[in-house]
Amino acid sequence: TLTERLSGVFDKLTGRGVLSEKDVDAALREIRVALLEADVALPVVKDFVAKVKERAVGDDVIRAVSPGQQVIKLVHDGLVDLLGGEGEPEGLALDGEPPIAILMAGLQGSGKTTTAAKLARRIQTREKKKVLLASLDTRRPAAMEQLQQMAQQAEAGFLPIVAGQTATEIAKRAMKAGQLQGYDVVILDTAGRTSIDEELMAEAKAIADIAKPHETLLVADALTGQDAVETARRFHERLPLTGLVLTRMDGDGRGGAALSMRHVTGLPIKFLGVSEKVDGLDAFDAKRVAGRILGRGDIVALVEKASEEYDKDKAERLAKKMAKGKFDLNDLSDQLSQMSKMGGLGGILGLLPGMNKKVQGQIAAAGFDDSMMKRQQAIISSMTRQERAKPELLKASRKKRIAAGSGVEVSEVNKLLKMHRQMADMMKKVGKKGPKGLMSGFTA
Ligand code: GDP
Ligand code: MG
Repeated sequence: TLTERLSGVFDKLTGRGVLSEKDVDAALREIRVALLEADVALPVVKDFVAKVKERAVGDDVIRAVSPGQQVIKLVHDGLVDLLGGEGEPEGLALDGEPPIAILMAGLQGSGKTTTAAKLARRIQTREKKKVLLASLDTRRPAAMEQLQQMAQQAEAGFLPIVAGQTATEIAKRAMKAGQLQGYDVVILDTAGRTSIDEELMAEAKAIADIAKPHETLLVADALTGQDAVETARRFHERLPLTGLVLTRMDGDGRGGAALSMRHVTGLPIKFLGVSEKVDGLDAFDAKRVAGRILGRGDIVALVEKASEEYDKDKAERLAKKMAKGKFDLNDLSDQLSQMSKMGGLGGILGLLPGMNKKVQGQIAAAGFDDSMMKRQQAIISSMTRQERAKPELLKASRKKRIAAGSGVEVSEVNKLLKMHRQMADMMKKVGKKGPKGLMSGFTA
C-alpha cells in the first residue's frame, strides 16, 4: 500500500534545517506511483509533482515533525490547490428570472437521479427556493418512477409523467410548468448511457438549448477510474458544463478521478455524494478529497496541528535549553499545554502511524492519560515561578502546599516531579543529538 511504501521512504529522510532536493525527490517518486494508483491521469501527475517539488525544496523543516511528514503535507497542500483551493466551494448560480434550470449530465449509473433529488432538497431547505424535478429519461419508465419517489422524499415538486413525449418535449413542458406554478428552480434529470455516444450528446445539447440552464452539472462516480477523465472531456466539449458532482464518496475509491476531471475541465467540483439517501450530499471540500487521494489524512492532520499550534519561538527556546541540559517545570507545563492543544495524548497517538496497540497500552499502563495531564497542569500552576524554574526547591512543606492548592495527594506531586526528572534526563540525551522537540521524540 501507499502507506507502507511511503513509510519506507520517509524513514530514510534525515535532512534537518531545510528539505533537500534529494529528500524531496525520493518522496515524490513514491507519491507519483501512489497518485497513478489512485487513478490520477499521468499528465496531471507529472504536472503536479513538478509543482510540489518547486515548493518543497529548500522549505524550512518544522521542528515538531519529520521532513517526510512535511513532504506529505506539502503534497497534500498541492492537491488541495489542484482541487480548487481551500476556500468555500462555489455555490450554485441560482439568481435570475425564475424558473432557473439545472441540468444533470453524466453516464448511466453515475448518480444523476439521486443527486437531482438531493440538490432539490438542499436548495429548498438552504436557499428556501421551490424546486421542481423533471425526469427526461424517456427510455426507462422505471427511472422516471425512481425520481418521482425521491422527489417525495425530498419534498420537492415532480413533473407528472406523460407517456410518449421526447426528452426535449418534456424539457419544454417542465420549464413551462415551472413558470406557471411558481417554481424557482427546475432540475432536469437526463437519461444516461453506459458510454458516450453521439445521440446522447445531441439530446443533451438540445435540452440545454431549450432550458438554458444556469448550471449544467456533470455527475461522476468517485469509484470510476481513468475513463472518468475521457467522459469529462467529451461532455465538456459539447455541453457548457458549470461544475462537477462526485458521487459515492462514501465508498472506498480513492477519488483520484476527481483530480483529473478537475484538471482536464478546469471546472469546480461543487458537491460530494456521500450516501444513497436524499440528504447524502455535502458541499465539496478540497481538503477532504485530497486526504482521500493521498491516503495520509492522519499525517496531514498531525503536521497541520503541529505547525499551527506549535509556537516556533517556544520550540526554539526549548531546544536551546535542552541542548544545555535544562528542562524545568515551566517547559513541562508548556509541553503539556501543547499536547492538549493537539487533542491531548489520545489525539496525538491516534494520528501517529505505526503507533501500535502495544505502545499505546504501555503508555496507558503507566497511567499517562489526558486526565492525568490535566492534573499535572493543575499541580504545576500551583507552584511559584521560582519553584517551577528550580524544582529542587520543592521540599516536603512546599509539596504539601502545592498538593492542597491543586487538590491532589502529595504522592501525585512526587509522581510529577519524578516524571519531570526522567524527561529532563531524556532531553539531555536528545539535546546532545541536536535540537528536537518532545513531539519529535514521540514521532521518532
Ligand atoms: P443515474 O443512472 O445516473 O441516474 O444514477 P442513480 O441516481 O440511479 O444512481 C445509481 C445508484 O447509485 C443508485 O443505486 C444510487 O442509490 C446509488 N448512488 C448514487 N449516489 C450515491 C452516493 O453518493 N453514495 C452511494 N453509496 N450510492 C449512491
Ligand atoms: Mg437516472
